[in-house]
Amino acid sequence: MTTSDHQGSVLLISGPSGCGKSTICKQLLEYDQVVFSVSATTRAPRPGEVDGTHYHFLSVDQFKARIEAGEFVEHAEVHGNMYGTLRAPMREAISAGKTYLVEIDVQGALQLKALEVDGIYVFVAPPSFEVLRQRLSGRGTETPEVLERRLKKAEDEYRERVKYDHIVVNDDLDRAVTEIRKIVGLPMPTTA
Ligand code: 5GP
Repeated sequence: MTTSDHQGSVLLISGPSGCGKSTICKQLLEYDQVVFSVSATTRAPRPGEVDGTHYHFLSVDQFKARIEAGEFVEHAEVHGNMYGTLRAPMREAISAGKTYLVEIDVQGALQLKALEVDGIYVFVAPPSFEVLRQRLSGRGTETPEVLERRLKKAEDEYRERVKYDHIVVNDDLDRAVTEIRKIVGLPMPTTA
């Protein structure tokens, strides 16, 4: 394990599905200091997703065995599939002085907060529910029933924002990323 003179930290980026947290995380990963927490999941890989890079894709039995072995800091069921944050890579990144980026749903973030996992908790909020509805329908993958269910869930999750350290409105990607960069104390990006 690599060690560093200074301890790293955990940055949790959370919010309702469709709020744009994945896009924000992609931008934050352009910093060398930032390491992505690869979650485990029982859902099937989407086209282009690589095992070990985007997720550790596990069967339900494999996932349950890891729960039993205490390998997860938290795990939750999201839209019918299991997701979990692994303990070992988080520990390694912190002792290597990195910013460990955890992209997580609201349920998982609040679970980590309840477990007193030390970190900066950021809630990414959509500019409005109308925008969220458009983003979720724009994916074109959901039936109207699923879309309504997701919007209802997003409304419930939005109420939890007060439990976070910071609320960042994703009205403009660059602006939102800059706001988070300042919160975390990441340096200005170097332009070529
Ligand atoms: P997707 O299947 O679209 O990649 O993710 C579905 C949801 O699961 C997203 O809201 C995502 O943030 C959440 N998720 C991803 N990894 C984890 C995790 O390790 N734990 C929890 N609780 N949620 C996660």
